[in-house]
Amino acid sequence: MSDRPLISVAAALELVLGHTRALAAEGVALEAAADRYLAEPLVASLDLPPFANSAMDGYALRHDDTRSELTVAGESAAGVPFDGLLGPGQAVVISTGAVLPAGADAVAPIEWVRESADGHVEVPRAVPERNAIRDAGSDVAAGAELLAPGLRLGAAQLGVAASVGASSLRCRRLPSVAVLPTGSELRPAGEPLLRGQIYDSNGPMLRAAAASAGARVTVVPRAGDTHPAHRAAFAAALAHDVVISVGGVSVGGHDLVRAVQRELGVEEVFWRVAMKPGKPLSFGVRERPGQQPTLVFGLPGNPVSALVCFELFVRPALAALQGAAEPGPAFVPARLGAPVRRNAERDELIRVQRGADGSLTPTGGQQSHQLAAAALADGLAMIRAGEGTLPAGAVVDYLPLGPSAGAC
Ligand code: AMP
Ligand code: MG
Repeated sequence: MSDRPLISVAAALELVLGHTRALAAEGVALEAAADRYLAEPLVASLDLPPFANSAMDGYALRHDDTRSELTVAGESAAGVPFDGLLGPGQAVVISTGAVLPAGADAVAPIEWVRESADGHVEVPRAVPERNAIRDAGSDVAAGAELLAPGLRLGAAQLGVAASVGASSLRCRRLPSVAVLPTGSELRPAGEPLLRGQIYDSNGPMLRAAAASAGARVTVVPRAGDTHPAHRAAFAAALAHDVVISVGGVSVGGHDLVRAVQRELGVEEVFWRVAMKPGKPLSFGVRERPGQQPTLVFGLPGNPVSALVCFELFVRPALAALQGAAEPGPAFVPARLGAPVRRNAERDELIRVQRGADGSLTPTGGQQSHQLAAAALADGLAMIRAGEGTLPAGAVVDYLPLGPSAGAC
């Protein structure tokens, strides 16, 4: 069984995304839509600006009015338009964003105008036609597509939706995720440790990671390394859109995850990827009547392996479930700031910090149990399998850690 060939990182990602379909769309109030993925295009229902208005504080007038002294006929303030018709020899006080009065075709900024005490103004210089006027539709024309489906909604996107009067948006449902730590050695924080026990770091870590990727997360109580405990925990977890179990997926005698998953109807898609850390990763799907299949990730227990597998495969799957146009992982090229030895057989994801000059420096211990060094990192560098050492200055793929990865 363990001599089955490893699959590549790229092939594994393709399989994960190939089994992942976007969840159904739902209406989401604008104030709750930050970081959600848009399911349908946002089309402008009106022109923006909706009316011609002034770009500056000043006076609305007729540009060909050569008289230098004009009578002030009234005021157009933002939200309080001037209702009359501006005639020859007249000016209307206007503020930024206020409606351009009928009859006016230019605005003289206040700095160009001399105001006299008797209700007249002098404009001692020529004012070009349409000066300081923002025409109706000059930002957005009614009917234009403003935002494309698959886009993650940030502040500017929500602002543009609000600007055309949208009070809610069609977004993909958020995935429900069960995080399932396994291992008889695990204890939750707050309890004393007996000999041989350790605190469960993966449960809280994966809860935070999945939540940052938009998931509604349930952490299933830790399953000890017995068959009944695994069965009960997986049976509960499989009701969710995604199961992220951690530990028990390797070749040890107490590694029960894959066997129990199989018993519960999980169809394994792959097991073991040519990467370091994270080699024992498993992925499968389990049909659910009337719903999309549950995606079932079996992450290796070593905390750095779990973190790396999450960023490479689970975060993109969570984005794809939410309909992301580009689910990631969004690697970008970056230079190594120090030489790095390559692994002959497996692509290696090392934990790095990106300096002010953009170069990448490994953050200390790179073994898969060394989570403390990973906690200092701001990203992962992909060191492709090969012989020898990559010199400082070599360009590699860099993946920022956290929510920005895959967000678009
Ligand atoms: P496993 O994949 O179950 O063989 O676990 C590999 C290593 O990761 C072992 O040293 C485990 O004790 C450790 N480990 C597994 N799960 C966790 C967890 N939730 N928190 C911290 N360490 C873990
Ligand atoms: Mg274990």
